[in-house]
Amino acid sequence: MKPDKQEKSKDLCPKCGAPLGEITTTKSGKKLQRCSTGNWNPETRQIDGCDYVKWLPVEPETLDEKCPKCGAPLLMTTTRFGKKMKKCSTSTWDPKTRTAGGCDYVEWIKGTREELDEDCPKCGSKLILMTTATGKKLKKCSTSTWDPKTRTAGGCDFVEWQKT
Ligand SMILES: [Zn+2]
Ligand SMILES: [Zn+2]
Ligand SMILES: [Zn+2]
Repeated sequence: MKPDKQEKSKDLCPKCGAPLGEITTTKSGKKLQRCSTGNWNPETRQIDGCDYVKWLPVEPETLDEKCPKCGAPLLMTTTRFGKKMKKCSTSTWDPKTRTAGGCDYVEWIKGTREELDEDCPKCGSKLILMTTATGKKLKKCSTSTWDPKTRTAGGCDFVEWQKT
């Protein structure tokens, strides 16, 4: 549960002074508040009344996990490109000096792998279901390997991308 901020009710439009309307969430998960005197007119495809829109920062989610560096709680944040990462809640960013402060622990979410009760059609080993960092899913053979030094794949090369 997120704490309900009181500024919700007392926020006034800086353009016309009317109270701001309800917080709405866009398809991409961004939050915004429109001026309560503004109305979207589907016929003219324009805003009738005041067109002020306040974009709200996406609040990071506090995790029930501790930073391995300093022990503070970790936050789950999503970048503009939809990638997820965990970062330390004590980390700060000073836009004036363009320097980061606090703890610098960051952990990119690389996706998950799950063992399936399915056999590889190529070699008969078990398949695993991988979810990439961008949310794509693929089945691949559990015998497949990747050598980062030589950048070559080994083992069975069966891969099946999942259509979503
Ligand atoms: Zn307004
Ligand atoms: Zn930390
Ligand atoms: Zn295989």
